[in-house]
Amino acid sequence: MSKNNGEKKLNGTVIVTYRCNARCSMCNRYKAPSKPEEEISIETIRKLPKMYFTNITGGEPFIRTDLKDIVRELYKKSDRIVISTNGFFTDRIVDLCKEFPQIGIRISIEGLEKTNNEIRGLQDGYQKGYKTLKTLREMGMKDVGFGMTVQDKNAPDLVPLYDISNEMGMEFATASLHNSFYFVEAKNIIHDRPMVAKNFENLINKLLKSKSPKKWFRAYFNHGLINYIYGQKRLLPCDMSFDTFFIDPYGDVMPCNGTKDKEVMGNLNRQTWDELWNSPEADKVRAKVRCCDRNCWMIGSVSPAMHKYIWKPATWVFVHKIKSIFGKGYSMYENKIVRDYRDGKVTKEELDKCSTCDMCAVVNNGLSEESQAQLVNKSGEEIVDADIAAQMKK
Ligand code: SF4
Ligand code: SF4
Repeated sequence: MSKNNGEKKLNGTVIVTYRCNARCSMCNRYKAPSKPEEEISIETIRKLPKMYFTNITGGEPFIRTDLKDIVRELYKKSDRIVISTNGFFTDRIVDLCKEFPQIGIRISIEGLEKTNNEIRGLQDGYQKGYKTLKTLREMGMKDVGFGMTVQDKNAPDLVPLYDISNEMGMEFATASLHNSFYFVEAKNIIHDRPMVAKNFENLINKLLKSKSPKKWFRAYFNHGLINYIYGQKRLLPCDMSFDTFFIDPYGDVMPCNGTKDKEVMGNLNRQTWDELWNSPEADKVRAKVRCCDRNCWMIGSVSPAMHKYIWKPATWVFVHKIKSIFGKGYSMYENKIVRDYRDGKVTKEELDKCSTCDMCAVVNNGLSEESQAQLVNKSGEEIVDADIAAQMKK
């Protein structure tokens, strides 16, 4: 199963830090920060392979004051870069975009103002995120958009937020709740599946009515999210670790961010890329991916699959676009499981069991021993707050 990487370009996600200033209700990463001295260095980034797409994420990536150096280095090996951020550090984001106007920025906004601030736990989080997006648009940045993790609390805001992003001429990316070491969370679950699915259905119909083929494929992605929240098998195979990888702040290369515990293919601080990518450890991880039953539906693992198995989403788009033209919209009841639940053929408890939610799970946060050790006397929030306060003084 060894992969000859050769000239082939990969899809990579670089987790530059596990530090985060937000307090999201669906992610406990802010409680488990990485130690700044251990975070991925420019030397390690130089060892990454050629990529056709790179996502830079965290934690909150803009906590790193050397993010511009990282981006500069990554542009030497990647055709396209998108940074996922909570949008809090407006000045840092604007400053970086001045140097890299071609970069993509996705700001997570979890609903309209009240909902967003409740979920994200950042005072003025919505206003800050919105202001950052507006400033970037005014600067002429083209690849700018919202990202929303849909859950019971914010599902009614889904379409209103899409409308706002549309008015601003922005991209609108969606996700739903996932559990993994990366989110330091095992208890995320959707409770009112039909209500959440109904909101996705409304969004899908809006996307299908648009004139943008990109949005029609987004409609398919959201259709996959309905399938996911009902705990069904992924609509497309998951090929993470074959042509896609994640690298964490410690240089550990992993297949994805959806696994329960951290899965490591190799370490780029200690190995060369070719060594680790062709190692027996990497093959062991690939074998696990082949029988992984977590059925995640996150853009990081779905976007490469949509490109690779394009005929499947393309057929869906073709059929639903035609239906939409003839006034027959998409219905969530096209999904058998949604009908079965409505008709009482399957219970909520049965659907809950199909999810990755595990109320008794011990969560492995993926921290190194040193990063874990700093949590003995202080909380993650205290460490990161002090860290940011020191940065601001400088
Ligand atoms: S979801 Fe993102 S912004 Fe929220 S706590 Fe987790 S890493 Fe931080
Ligand atoms: S389904 Fe794919 S992305 Fe999710 S945990 Fe399994 S291998 Fe990772």
